[in-house]
Amino acid sequence: MYNPKSMKAEEFICHEEVLDTLRYADTHKNNLELINQILDKARLRKGLSHREAMILLDCDIPEKNQEIFALAEQIKKDFYGNRIVMFAPLYLSNYCVNGCVYCPYHAKNKHIARKKLTQEELVREVTALQDMGHKRLAIEAGEDPVNNPIEYILECIKIIYSIKHKNGAIRRVNVNIAATTVENYRKLHEAGIGTYILFQETYHKESYEKLHPTGPKHDYAYHTEAMDRAMEGGIDDVGLGVLFGLERYRYEFAALLMHAEHLEAVHGVGPHTISVPRIKHADDIDPSAFDNGIDDDIFAKLVACIRIAVPYTGMIISTRESKACREKIIHYGISQISGGSKTSVGGYVEPEEDDHKSEQFDVSDKRTLDEVVRWLMEIGYIPSFCTACYREGRTGDRFMSLCKNMQIHNCCLPNALMTLKEYLIDYASPETQKIGEELIKCELNNIPKDKVRKIAEDNLQNIEQGKRDFRF
Ligand code: SAM
Repeated sequence: MYNPKSMKAEEFICHEEVLDTLRYADTHKNNLELINQILDKARLRKGLSHREAMILLDCDIPEKNQEIFALAEQIKKDFYGNRIVMFAPLYLSNYCVNGCVYCPYHAKNKHIARKKLTQEELVREVTALQDMGHKRLAIEAGEDPVNNPIEYILECIKIIYSIKHKNGAIRRVNVNIAATTVENYRKLHEAGIGTYILFQETYHKESYEKLHPTGPKHDYAYHTEAMDRAMEGGIDDVGLGVLFGLERYRYEFAALLMHAEHLEAVHGVGPHTISVPRIKHADDIDPSAFDNGIDDDIFAKLVACIRIAVPYTGMIISTRESKACREKIIHYGISQISGGSKTSVGGYVEPEEDDHKSEQFDVSDKRTLDEVVRWLMEIGYIPSFCTACYREGRTGDRFMSLCKNMQIHNCCLPNALMTLKEYLIDYASPETQKIGEELIKCELNNIPKDKVRKIAEDNLQNIEQGKRDFRF
């Protein structure tokens, strides 16, 4: 029985409710009156239910689809402005006891190089990331209680926050590790993590069990209920995601939104972010072996419909996607992207030829961070290295209410400009610097409150004189 308030995976991601939703959308996908009603509701910017959003996803009336894309773009502008937050993944260890059939870190893969960063290697990786200009990391690790116990992860977080190299600093560490216990989530919270990210991979229980034949990750309920344990452990910001390609995208879309509804119903706050990874070629993984790959057009529609359904949730697209794809998708609601990423353990320091040995998947967008930052500005966005919200205690529902009241512009825009300024001075190429300085000058005028603008201008001058880390 479907119950968003239930704490049982199979009740808040109810298989029958997903199937009913798919049938309902199939019947009504060309019902113009209903689509117009749903679009009117979406324009209120308070989100949509999974059933309503499913109809928009399935709709194949060209004029209505244009409206859907335009609305997604507008909602993104209203809530997130033209800012894109930058981050990089940092792979700590690829030791893994699981048997995930899409991931080259699966335990049976005997020829992939297994690596775990030592403390010295970690310092070198973080220093390299700081020298690129990154301030926000997502740490990644396989699941292995012997090689990567929680103590190892916690020690790494402590080291990462402690490294201060030149003007560099990692100010927010997000964590993408396997589902764990409330006690461990509490420890991660106490270590000062930003978002806890865990991809569901697929919400379809039967497929999930086949795709995770062995290891602790096989347990569908334990994995699906992880975000509730994370929140019980004190983590306010959680990031959902589906690995598109594993199961039928319509099923995943409905279930993903049901998961968001569950978090809202139980904890009073929805997911902080949603990631939309697509399966990629990797060491012994051939993406064509999975039947449910989606093309760029469907991918764009998914992103647009997620944006409309959960307007306050950040959306992340990684370097799994090419420059061309990111350029197509970004407008429909993406708020965070990675840049200059390496998906191998030690990849930021090691020479390229070694890089592939422990890689998790092929990166499609291989540009440097400087190139990504410049490109963003050229296509009309402000790259932001801001990490202020969680450092100012604006997490969970406090962040959401800032976003809902659209006060985000008085806070996030100046923060974006100040952190961009730091990046330009400390790390950017002359060409990027030039474009960035112009952009900052123009964008200062878009800060709504005079008082805030004045403080931001003063801070920008202070940054020129060598001071760092200002924030609202
Ligand atoms: N081991 C942790 C877990 O089980 O959640 C951490 C996750 S892993 C380092 C990060 C994510 O990469 C996975 O959740 C999965 O969705 C994704 N991934 C794995 N193999 C992939 C592939 N071949 N292509 C694209 N993404 C992949």
